[in-house]
Amino acid sequence: MSIYTKKQQNIAHRIEETSDKNNWKDWKWQLKHAIRSIDKFEKVTGIQFDAEEKKNLESTLDKFPLSITPYYLSLIDVNNYSNDPVFKQSFADARELILDKSEYSDPLAEDEDSPVEGITHRYPDRVLFHVSNVCSMYCRHCTRKRKVGDVDHVPSRAQMIKGIEYIKSNTQVRDVLLSGGDPFMLPDDMIDWLLNELTQIEHVEVVRIGTRIPVVLPYRVTDKLVEVLKKYHPLWINTHFNHPREITASAAEALSKLANAGIPLGNQSVLLADVNDCPRIMKKLVHLLVKNRVRPYYLYQCDLSEGLSHFRTPIGKGIEIMESLIGHTSGFAVPTYVIDAPGGGGKIPVMPNYIISWSTNKVVLRNYEGVITTYKEPDKYEQRFCDRDCDKCDLELNLTPSEEVAATGIEKLLSDSDDSISLVPQGNERMERRTDG
Ligand SMILES: *Cc1c(COP(=O)(O)O)cnc(C)c1O
Repeated sequence: MSIYTKKQQNIAHRIEETSDKNNWKDWKWQLKHAIRSIDKFEKVTGIQFDAEEKKNLESTLDKFPLSITPYYLSLIDVNNYSNDPVFKQSFADARELILDKSEYSDPLAEDEDSPVEGITHRYPDRVLFHVSNVCSMYCRHCTRKRKVGDVDHVPSRAQMIKGIEYIKSNTQVRDVLLSGGDPFMLPDDMIDWLLNELTQIEHVEVVRIGTRIPVVLPYRVTDKLVEVLKKYHPLWINTHFNHPREITASAAEALSKLANAGIPLGNQSVLLADVNDCPRIMKKLVHLLVKNRVRPYYLYQCDLSEGLSHFRTPIGKGIEIMESLIGHTSGFAVPTYVIDAPGGGGKIPVMPNYIISWSTNKVVLRNYEGVITTYKEPDKYEQRFCDRDCDKCDLELNLTPSEEVAATGIEKLLSDSDDSISLVPQGNERMERRTDG
């Protein structure tokens, strides 16, 4: 059961003298009393910043506002706050105002790849649907920092219907990812309505929700919410734990409610300097996640969003972490490390190299221990010519015409049915010279 610690009790009383355990566990009380100013933060935590520091923090807040739920704030160790991973993820830092040349306000070009408001359609068969622009806690490392602090509002049904219509009319969309903001900031009846609309679309096979609620406001996972979610299987949920300290009894309880409702749970972490850029922290985190029935899904390289330079690590740090996980722990506890391509290319997986060399019949590999091994390839392998005519193929895949899609990208270069021998970037000068000539 989720607990109500002495520390939480103190915080609650500093916020509102009459508050009790029931208030604390009431997510609406938590939202109403989210800490949004430096003064209130000081009052509630007892931490005091000096005048100069405070001035810098205030100007940071003018650009990137603050919001911390009392629950998440209660996880901060006030005696050692400057090293605290919860503090660093939730409290402003004057370095957010540093603008690096390589940063963008919208590094993933989500707004450019948006056919209608609220939808980002980047991959062929799935869309990102921003259904809320509200969060209970403003992560300082938010990749959508450009939007944080836009007037908080829940989009109207009319606005959402535009997104739903887009999904309806694009039959290749089989996976809808609800994001935001945090979709769990919507009222239960709206979530119910939205999931009902989406799951009724014939070509939508799965709906996913991306949420940080189990981390920053676990009390939002009420029995009533779970009752709503349960009606819409297959529904997948991805959450966002970054540090083992965030997996508290309350968070574990929220996760358990969701898992008991039959919802597969995943986790997306962001690699953050001075927060979790350590193989041992990451290993502890993934172990706690799987213990709580959450599958580590992605580890993200920190995006090139504005004001995040102090959070970024070299990619080598991520590779080092992957090296310390792969083979050293359960395969299902290992996330995929990805870099979300600036400009909107999507997620690119990266990992240590395991192939050392290759000949026409042998591959030399190394394992996690450094043992070098060989894999002997088959002497005879009859290459099957594939013209993508699955009806005539003896591998017996039966596709309906709507499932037939042309090969794209690198897949196209590998296919037998396409004559392309290269993919050339638009505006390639050498190619332009050819056409000019
Ligand atoms: C991450 C992302 C998805 C989902 O990608 P998966 O690899 O399937 O989890 C879809 N659309 C956009 C725009 C994304 O950024």
